[in-house]
Amino acid sequence: MVKKVVKKKKKSFASRGSGAAHVDSGKRPIQAPKLPGCMDSCPAGNQVRRFVTTLAQAEKFGKTQDQALEEAWHIYTETSPFPAVCGRICPHPCESGCNRIELDGAVGVNKIERTIGDYGLEKGLTFKKLTEEKRLEKIAVVGAGPAGLTCAYQLTRMGYSVTVFEATEKPGGMLLWGIPRYRLPEDILDREIQRILDFGVELKCNTRIGTDIPLDDLRRDYQAVFLSIGAHKGKLLGVEGEDAENVLSGVEFLNRIHHGETIDVGDNVIVVGGGDTAIDAARICRRLGATTSIVYRRTINEMPAIDEEIEEAQKEGIKLEYLAAPAGFVKENNRITNMKCIRMELGEPDESGRRRPVPIDGSEFEIPATTVIAAISQEPDFTGFESLIDGRDWFKIDDHGALLKEEGIYAGGDAVNLALASTAIGQGRGAAIAIDFKLRGLEPPIPGDLPAITTKRLRMDWYPKADRLEAESLAIEERLAQMFAEVNKGLTPEQAVQEAKRCMSCGYCFGCEECWILCQEQAVIKPRVKGEAFMFDINKCNGCDKCMEVCPCGYIDLI
Ligand SMILES: Cc1cc2nc3c(=O)[nH]c(=O)nc-3n(C[C@H](O)[C@H](O)[C@H](O)COP(=O)(O)OP(=O)(O)OC[C@H]3O[C@@H](n4cnc5c(N)ncnc54)[C@H](O)[C@@H]3O)c2cc1C
Ligand code: SF4
Ligand code: SF4
Ligand code: SF4
Repeated sequence: MVKKVVKKKKKSFASRGSGAAHVDSGKRPIQAPKLPGCMDSCPAGNQVRRFVTTLAQAEKFGKTQDQALEEAWHIYTETSPFPAVCGRICPHPCESGCNRIELDGAVGVNKIERTIGDYGLEKGLTFKKLTEEKRLEKIAVVGAGPAGLTCAYQLTRMGYSVTVFEATEKPGGMLLWGIPRYRLPEDILDREIQRILDFGVELKCNTRIGTDIPLDDLRRDYQAVFLSIGAHKGKLLGVEGEDAENVLSGVEFLNRIHHGETIDVGDNVIVVGGGDTAIDAARICRRLGATTSIVYRRTINEMPAIDEEIEEAQKEGIKLEYLAAPAGFVKENNRITNMKCIRMELGEPDESGRRRPVPIDGSEFEIPATTVIAAISQEPDFTGFESLIDGRDWFKIDDHGALLKEEGIYAGGDAVNLALASTAIGQGRGAAIAIDFKLRGLEPPIPGDLPAITTKRLRMDWYPKADRLEAESLAIEERLAQMFAEVNKGLTPEQAVQEAKRCMSCGYCFGCEECWILCQEQAVIKPRVKGEAFMFDINKCNGCDKCMEVCPCGYIDLI
């Protein structure tokens, strides 16, 4: 094989004459893919590295930007039908796990995901079935939130007939009735859901299982049932006087707003809580023109809400009153005029690992309020499902989503544990796989156990520094003037490709040719198909181990 002389821009081990005399280590290189932090941290199980590098390498492999975006969309939708949704609302734990943090900031996976999702909507891309074979079994899904719709989508890909029963008049769950439209525009959600329905999922709205139809009917008529009823009941504060007419729960408030109701909250709103519901309710109240404060019993560091949303809330003028808790109300004619608060200090960690807030004696104070929104948490409504839970428990499932209480019934999403949309998506997919295996008489698959790749195995100095691209946001006055104007503007396709190029392809060959250039023995084989991983001819290899050392992304192991 005659190798081309390659003009190298980057520092290469080849220039150091590494093919010189050496001691044979006796070891030989193997292709050794590893699990990057981004993928390990994505609750939806998305193939982050694959869809990001598909964009990054488009030019190099002779693809147009459109071809790369379409390919990336198909890769993405193998795991989740919601790229445009998650690209807007996921707090992107994948980015917290990204190795690039140690160089110059995480790759902007979430915004890349949004661009891919929006491209799919704009071009009317459609899902691919895994098989044309039609399965005879019918599956019922209860609840059309992200968990239920993902489960239904994945089972439909596998050839099953799936019916989703939804209690309300429209699918979407908390994505529709909870998350404000300035973060997730309704038409984006509607279009991603419509595509799932067009794919063959049957949807029956205004049908509450357990009330309109007993669970027994589903047990009788379907071969498996997936329960994804979410958690839509706002928890009470447990403070005397909260039955006043101007005290609302966070989820109730958001639900009514998203049903188009005009709620007169007055001039002074207090929101109690530190999660997404509290932040979203407070930001809506700002858009309704009220001076708004959030009262939270711990500090900003313990707030469970998404960091970016807390920052945006502060920019919009919402006051955060930390280390304070409601202690009572001052009322006039069943309307609250003031909320009594007590100062807190942080004590020892509780069962959640966060430091427990402890009231400080004699520190009471009052805040005037025209409306109080209690957004401390929410819980599922288990009416009709009592036989499937014990006492105050929520649905309990095994690692594959199968209900511990009854065979043939599966559950996922918020009704198991309050978490993220991406968690619900991951659990919906996991249950779909488990249902498929069960119906085929097989044991559910054991998840792959690829080793994780950290920066210790990466040649961090090989990658040129490049600033992370941030998306622009709507000006504050424009946000406050229009209730549902989308705040984040996202990246253009060109920007998304540029950002994708920052990905280091941790743990998977990206064809940099370093090993091929370096190996004097011609033991490294260039793939015939562009984009496939480089291979090794161990008969030619002399065990010098330099290919492993030179590989920037840690793809090569010597054994
Ligand atoms: C205000 C708010 C903001 C949030 N912000 C974010 C965010 O920014 N990012 C993020 O990742 N996550 C966020 N979350 C969490 C996220 O929305 C949820 O984790 C996710 O929607 C859970 O999905 P699910 O499918 O389990 O339940 P849901 O989305 O709640 O869907 C459950 C569905 O089941 C239906 N249902 C209930 N009972 C029955 C029944 N008996 N029969 C038939 N149907 C029934 C409900 O009507 C609903 O449509 C937020 C949550 C809230 C409340
Ligand atoms: S769903 Fe969330 S965690 Fe997963 S890739 Fe998208 S942004 Fe990252
Ligand atoms: S650099 Fe790319 S592959 Fe590596 S962790 Fe970040 S997004 Fe994943
Ligand atoms: S050195 Fe480059 S071409 Fe060789 S295996 Fe690593 S990433 Fe692939």
